[in-house]
Amino acid sequence: MIINDVHCHFFSPQFFATLGRQRATPEADSRNPARPPSASDICRELNWDDPVSPEALAHRWIAELDAQGVTRAALMASLPGDEESVAAAVARHPARLVGFFMVDPSAADATERTRHAITELGLRTVCLFPAMHHVPLADERVGRIVEIAASQPGIAVFIHCGALSVGVRTKLGLPSRFDFRLGNPLEVARLAVKYPSVPFIIPHFGAGMFREALMAADMCGNIHFDTSSSNSWIRYTPGLTLDAAFKAALSVVGPSRLLFGTDSSFFPRGWQKGIYDTQKQILDMCGVSAEDAALIFGRNFDRLFPAAG
Ligand SMILES: [Zn+2]
Repeated sequence: MIINDVHCHFFSPQFFATLGRQRATPEADSRNPARPPSASDICRELNWDDPVSPEALAHRWIAELDAQGVTRAALMASLPGDEESVAAAVARHPARLVGFFMVDPSAADATERTRHAITELGLRTVCLFPAMHHVPLADERVGRIVEIAASQPGIAVFIHCGALSVGVRTKLGLPSRFDFRLGNPLEVARLAVKYPSVPFIIPHFGAGMFREALMAADMCGNIHFDTSSSNSWIRYTPGLTLDAAFKAALSVVGPSRLLFGTDSSFFPRGWQKGIYDTQKQILDMCGVSAEDAALIFGRNFDRLFPAAG
């Protein structure tokens, strides 16, 4: 069976350098500017491997996917402004990697960046984190970005809903001032109704807003779920198990709109095989046919993101 992973993070040198700049340096002033920690400093502090360059990191990802038997993966630029890093990786391995990128709709250059990432850099999914960027999905700045995605064939929109924690920020003591009210799957449904040709991806089954995510996907045939991460949100619904969540998603959304993902990110940890093992076991236990499992683990990904090159 082909395994494609729709949810991996590309933690590039620029990603770590940006986190370094976000580090508060209270002792700095204009006459004595404190040098922000470099990407390498940040990696050393985290005890993670230094990605060195986008090309080297792309190479590492490909070696990891090969070692784990994963055919293709979506890699997300995980901070706004890091599109070029992922584009460099995808350009090297267009048959294996699909580029996703995060956009902050409140940024002055958000529409320009989105257009550039899609039309010039060949990235294929816009990622929105409304709770992080404090822009409601009904805001016209979001509308303008989705409009750009809709104007190009084959571009998807990923919208993080529900609970959100960014492990690397917590580890570095960086603030995470998220407004969780803003990530509601029913607001994704509003956009999905307006742009029926655009595939929308809600990660982690809605990350705690499972009922709303199911409602949204039931009403809108262009809403997909990704299955990534440990899905620890299930503890917000008393008694809910991941098996039961999969069963409900299969019965409401169906196997054609579930996309397997792990939420893998840094090295040396690499690709999170444990997530795959757990989900494979659950689908086997649920009696999902080999054909439906093949859709979830790989074919839906290939349908949404046909291999380039
Ligand atoms: Zn993620």
